Amino acid sequence: MTGLYLHIPFCAQKCAYCDFVSYGGRESLLPSYLSALKREAETYRGEKIGTVFFGGGTPSLMSEKQIEDLCAFVRDCFDLAPDVEWTMEANPASVTKEKMLAALSGGVNRVSLGAQSLSDDVLAFLGRAHTRAQLETAVEAVKTAGFDKWNLDLITALPGQTAEAWGNTLKEAIAFAPTHISCYSLICDPQTPLGRMAAKGEIVLPDDEQERAMVHLTEQTLARAGYEQYEISNFALPGHACRHNINYWECGDYIGLGCAAHSLFRGARKRNTPSLPRYLTAADPTEETQTLSDRDKREERVFLGLRMNRGVDIARFERDFALDFHAFYASALQTNLDRGFLEEAEGFLRLTARGRDFCDTVAAEFMETA
Ligand code: SF4
Repeated sequence: MTGLYLHIPFCAQKCAYCDFVSYGGRESLLPSYLSALKREAETYRGEKIGTVFFGGGTPSLMSEKQIEDLCAFVRDCFDLAPDVEWTMEANPASVTKEKMLAALSGGVNRVSLGAQSLSDDVLAFLGRAHTRAQLETAVEAVKTAGFDKWNLDLITALPGQTAEAWGNTLKEAIAFAPTHISCYSLICDPQTPLGRMAAKGEIVLPDDEQERAMVHLTEQTLARAGYEQYEISNFALPGHACRHNINYWECGDYIGLGCAAHSLFRGARKRNTPSLPRYLTAADPTEETQTLSDRDKREERVFLGLRMNRGVDIARFERDFALDFHAFYASALQTNLDRGFLEEAEGFLRLTARGRDFCDTVAAEFMETA
């Protein structure tokens, strides 16, 4: 079933590490942007959709009325599955109970809160627009509105962060009782303020060993609290894994709408313009379309499949590519099975706990096979 992503590229301010296509302080453009988004959506009218994701940017910058209106539009424009999973990303600074109620009654059934840290000092360092107190209020709003599926996003491997500090963050996050937790290591693109500080030596990021120690602590702490890891950076209580993201990692079809949005639909990858003025005015916002070769598809299937704890579905691979998986990848397979980085079980090839530390290396060795 196809996933549907709607990008809302506005943020109250630009975070110091952010290299996403998002615009700080431009939310006055939301009305014209939402019109352009609907215009683009019309080209897909009637498509069957299994999951919906309002991402950003900061979708919670929309007013209650805009949330209601966009939800009604999505329900009218698309053929949503009866069990549709419908997520809205939210920044704690712009969450209100009224907005959460508008989203819930509009069909949204999952909220992803961008907490990133639970410390005001760290939030200020990251340039986030919210405080710890606002996060607590937002969590309360999500819960009292009636959402029973919600995620907290956290960032780890911060400059100077100790294992003890990160362990405490995890424990406090667990105490909020989210059904899903995503933990990403900080990546400082050189074009971002934090990236420039790192380049000048003003901040020092943890080395690989320190970062892996944080990741292991994450895995152990969340496992003890009942969160199952289902992807390198994603953990969920049983039955609460994010189906929308699983569809990406399984290389399913998805339609991406909005400025800079990507689609993978009917064998073609499409990328929209990242230019907001152009998105607002263009009859067709497509910047690039690429028909994927079998090689592209195989690489993505293995690269993304290995990120998931379930691994790569070997029978599906062989069916889709008319290849003997074991013969085709014989060299990369044998090398990584011998190293103890991979294991095969129940028809899936997956990374071992040790192999997860070398996910990119293992994937690169598979990529070398044409
Ligand atoms: S809230 Fe997210 S998208 Fe917006 S600036 Fe911060 S990191 Fe970027």
